[in-house]
Amino acid sequence: MIEAVGLVKTYGRSRALDGLTLTAGKGVTGLLGPNGAGKSTLIRVLATVLAPDGGELRLLGRDPGADRLEIRRRLGYLPQEPGFQRGFTVFEFVDYVAILKEMTHRRSRHDEVRRVIEEVGLTAVGGRRVRTLSGGMRRRLGIAQALLGEPELILLDEPAAGLDPEQRLSFGELIARLGQDRTVVLSTHQTEDVAALCDRVAVLKAGRCAFAGTPGELRALA
Ligand code: ADP
Ligand code: ADP
Repeated sequence: MIEAVGLVKTYGRSRALDGLTLTAGKGVTGLLGPNGAGKSTLIRVLATVLAPDGGELRLLGRDPGADRLEIRRRLGYLPQEPGFQRGFTVFEFVDYVAILKEMTHRRSRHDEVRRVIEEVGLTAVGGRRVRTLSGGMRRRLGIAQALLGEPELILLDEPAAGLDPEQRLSFGELIARLGQDRTVVLSTHQTEDVAALCDRVAVLKAGRCAFAGTPGELRALA
């Protein structure tokens, strides 16, 4: 699903990705690392929002340089700071993202919007304005829009940030369910998150992958 070899991404003179190599398939892969390690940059490159300056990348068996639109249709992306329309209701917001994704047929689009809202457990608050939602509900809303169109690849930037322990529990169940038949990549700077949420973990350090394996293997190193 994801094959990256020697990825480089620079911002001016700073190398956010410095020869990063990573593969990820079905299941949940966590990107773990301190602030500035390159997690968000990597997720933005995998979402084809940013083009790498060097290295090789294949996503869903395709070349993102040549097949960007096809890849975008097949992936879902939760940015670190999602641009929620806070005055919209939950339904209106997800429907708005669906329109941006060019789901033009209204009846089937609305079915899909209801489906993803149901999948993240927000059906009961579908008519509530986004600004009135709790932090945990907003995380779920961010995931709902990333599920539109049944993507095979789901990229979540810091999806668990700011959740309390109880919210984390049900959130973990949702992530595990998503990872059953899809490729999910999420970033976090908390080691506890990878043990709770991920099948595989890649530790990023200064724009490189310093470790790749299971959470258990990572723990054995510590
Ligand atoms: P992380 O998500 O692990 O915190 P980032 O990918 O956000 O890491 O950042 C990696 C490095 O790239 C950091 O040094 C950061 O300051 C720099 N960086 C990230 N985004 C930009 C940007 N838009 N312009 C300039 N530098 C950036
Ligand atoms: P175009 O000239 O066709 O509009 P651009 O090169 O301006 O394409 O890129 C449009 C967007 O797609 C930009 O955000 C760019 O970073 C991203 N992009 C371009 N090429 C790639 C690539 N090989 N992999 C990932 N993202 C890419």
